[in-house]
Amino acid sequence: MFTPRLITLPIFGLLLAGPVLQAQTGTQSTAIHAPKYIPETRTIAHNIGNRTVVIKVIQYGEPNGIYCINMHDNEGTAVLGAVPVLEMTGGTLIRVENFKQRVIKFRLNGVLYGFDPNRIYSRIGIGQTLRDNRNYSLKAVLEIEKFAGRLLALIPDTAKCLIALHNNTNDLFSIKSYVPGGIRQKDAKAVFYNETEDVDDIALTTDSLIYKVMADAGYNSIWQDNVKAKKDGSLSIYSGEKGIRYINIETEHGKVEQYRIMFEKLMAWLLSPPTQPVENPEEEKESTGTQNLLIIN
Ligand SMILES: [Zn+2]
Repeated sequence: MFTPRLITLPIFGLLLAGPVLQAQTGTQSTAIHAPKYIPETRTIAHNIGNRTVVIKVIQYGEPNGIYCINMHDNEGTAVLGAVPVLEMTGGTLIRVENFKQRVIKFRLNGVLYGFDPNRIYSRIGIGQTLRDNRNYSLKAVLEIEKFAGRLLALIPDTAKCLIALHNNTNDLFSIKSYVPGGIRQKDAKAVFYNETEDVDDIALTTDSLIYKVMADAGYNSIWQDNVKAKKDGSLSIYSGEKGIRYINIETEHGKVEQYRIMFEKLMAWLLSPPTQPVENPEEEKESTGTQNLLIIN
């Protein structure tokens, strides 16, 4: 049982205007600065059944502990938003190439299989996504498990943060999925819902500090309940279980500029984090007065 607590606080127009001002500043700074880093790309060809899936590892500067992963090849808005920031901050970008499609298809012993590459980080998740895409066999599960292992091996234990680059379709998956009555309410330990932001533009993280950073910046934010969240084989669940600092930044398709400013906010903090850790982000939030709705499960 959950007893959600709703706190409605006054909206201060000036404070909520913050992200808009920041967007303008960010746009100008990108326009006048040449990229600091020209990336080097390593190409990995990984076989799954009869398919060869190309994984690109794009390195901006020396490895700095920031690992971005774009698993859904039809979600290019996120990449377009992240790249100009990575050109300035440095970091590693991992891309799975799949003909601009979400579902990866392959044949094994004459049977066609399909899977969602963000449902492959547990055996149960792999089984479920295979069934969702019609055909299941243990051999197919083992092939996909090897692919998941290949991707995870690209992210070292020393990673400071793992950032998943995603986009969504209008209203299908949004902050509303996590508020009381939403289908994923129980997956969240805390939710910050800013009604002046697009419901599709969200940050979902395993980490209380990152949750606070993004919520304080005014973005719709979810702190995943790393124990209770549904075990769906996604990278967020895997990261929560392994204690990996993870964030998924997700905007609606086509909103490159919104993506860029959210990503930039996160990167600025990651590369110069505050020295004082905050143990209870929800208590902090109550006193700031910048939010209009905070839900703590
Ligand atoms: Zn995605």
